[in-house]
Amino acid sequence: MIVVMEQGATERQIQAVIDRLVALRFSVHRSTGVIHTVLGGVGADEVDPADLEGMEGVKECRRIMSPYKLASRAFRPGGTVVRAGDVEVGGDRIVVMAGPCSVESREQIQRSAGLVSAAGARVIRGGAFKPRSSPYSFQGLGEEGLKLLREAADSHGLLVVSEVMDSSQIDLVSAYADILQVGARNMQNYNLLRDLGARKKPVLLKRGIAATIEELLLSAEYILSGGNYEVILCERGIRTFESYTRNTMDISAIPVVKKLSHLPIAGDPSHGTGRRDKVTPMARAAVAAGADALLVEVHPDPDRALSDGAQSLRPEQFEELMRQLRIIAQAVNRRI
Ligand code: PEP
Ligand code: MN
Repeated sequence: MIVVMEQGATERQIQAVIDRLVALRFSVHRSTGVIHTVLGGVGADEVDPADLEGMEGVKECRRIMSPYKLASRAFRPGGTVVRAGDVEVGGDRIVVMAGPCSVESREQIQRSAGLVSAAGARVIRGGAFKPRSSPYSFQGLGEEGLKLLREAADSHGLLVVSEVMDSSQIDLVSAYADILQVGARNMQNYNLLRDLGARKKPVLLKRGIAATIEELLLSAEYILSGGNYEVILCERGIRTFESYTRNTMDISAIPVVKKLSHLPIAGDPSHGTGRRDKVTPMARAAVAAGADALLVEVHPDPDRALSDGAQSLRPEQFEELMRQLRIIAQAVNRRI
C-alpha cells in the first residue's frame, strides 16, 4: 500500500497515518520527498485504500500491484540518489567506477588508481574476494587486497567499491569499502541480502546471470525492506544462446528499470560483453540509455591480469572512453 500525503501535510497528520498503518499490521517505510511524503506499507493485505484516503492530509492511497513494493517507482516518484562520501549516484552526474577485476599487488592497484582518477573516475573497483567459476583460479587477496585498495583510493581521492561474497565478510569489507558489491552469482543469496538490509552502507546489486528484471527488483526489495535504501542496481549482461560475447548486455534493462523503479542503475559493459573491443561501444550505449553509473574494468597491463584481462581496457582506451562519454552525457542532459 502506498499513501501519498498532501503537499504541506503536517507531521501530526503523517504520524496519524503511520500509526493507523501500524495498527493495520503494515510495516511502514517513509520516503520524505521534496514535495510529497510517501508512506509505503508492506506486509498486510486486504485493506481498503478508501479507509486511509479519508484521513486528514492524505492525497491518495493505492495498492502497489507489482510484487516488489519499496523498489517500485511509486514509492519514490522523484527517484533515489545514493550518496557515498561526496559521490552521488542517481543525480545529474554519471559516476564512473573503474579499476581492475581483482586487486593483485600494491603496484598494480596504485597504478590503476592513478590512471582511473586522472581520467575522471570517482570510484575505484577491485575485488579482494573473487567468485571464480573454477576453484583453481585466483581467488583474490582477501583482507590484504582490501587494505591495498583503500590505500590506493585514498592516495588518489577515490571511493572504493568491492565485492562481498558472504554475510561473514560484511564487517570486514565495510571497514575498507564505501560501496559493497553483490555479484551476479549472489543476487539471490537471500541471507546476504537481508544482512545488507540491516546496514546503512550503499550496495551495488548486480543482476544475476539468468535473472529477470523482476527478480533483480525483488532482490533489491530484500535490502530495502530491512531499512537500507542505499541500493544501486547494475546490468552486467545475462546468459543467452549467443557465443560471440561472454554475456548479452541487456541495454534495454536500463530504461525498463528506470520506469519501474526509483533506484539508480549502473551498466557494466566489461562483464556485459567479456571482450575488450566491445566495452567502449556498450559503455557509450549504457550512458545513452540513461545509466546513472558505469562499472568498467581497466588494468595497467591487461595481458598479465590475474582475472578478466580479456575484457579489461588498456589505460589509453579508458582515457579515450571517458572523452567520448563526456560528449554522450551532454546529449542526454547529464555530465560525467
Ligand atoms: C566483477 O565485478 O568482477 C564480477 C565478478 O562481476 P559479476 O558478479 O557481474 O560476474
Ligand atoms: Mn571481473
